[in-house]
Amino acid sequence: MDFVLASNNKKKLEELKRILLPLGVNVMSAKDMGIDLHDIKETGITFAENALIKAESILKLTNLPSIGDDSGLMVDALGGEPGIYSARYAGPNASDSDRIKKLLFNMENVESEDRNAKFVCSICCLFPDGRKITANGECRGKIGFEPVGSNGFGYDPIFITEYGKTFAQLNSEEKDKISHRGNALRILSNKLKNMK
Ligand code: IMP
Repeated sequence: MDFVLASNNKKKLEELKRILLPLGVNVMSAKDMGIDLHDIKETGITFAENALIKAESILKLTNLPSIGDDSGLMVDALGGEPGIYSARYAGPNASDSDRIKKLLFNMENVESEDRNAKFVCSICCLFPDGRKITANGECRGKIGFEPVGSNGFGYDPIFITEYGKTFAQLNSEEKDKISHRGNALRILSNKLKNMK
């Protein structure tokens, strides 16, 4: 089965492809289809709402099975921030490293035991015939005091996993096994298998 992903994030696409392909699902990027995504406004107030908005926009444009993924980091000591604003946390033109710097600055006075956080991923699949499948995944960990590791993307270098290593120190297989996106996509794949 082929899906179009509503995202310009290359790393996110890579993760979706490598987790879903072995499960028989092929994901194409909107860019591959010549679609400009800049017009999609993430106006939802939850990850699930934004995933639906993205999938709806792509379905309208392509009339093909569409996937929206909305994800982000929720830090307990910051009341769940940056949450749905994870990509925009340090402004529209900021880099991953700017966002990490801002987060570490905001947590400067937070002790080790209070640095709990979770990554959240919400996926929404829409089909041209009106069927809809959703799946959510989480991964709990801690925010480090400095970036460590060079794999992955986004906040990976400051997210310390249950292995005691950051996401950025894990290889793709290790990350996919425990990540919010891996967990959501495994649920999605089971639902796709049982789909009528
Ligand atoms: P979205 O494209 O609106 O879903 O933005 C999600 C943002 O959350 C990304 O730009 C990253 O900053 C962050 N994020 C989501 N998933 C991950 C991940 O697996 N690792 C690191 N950062 C992530």
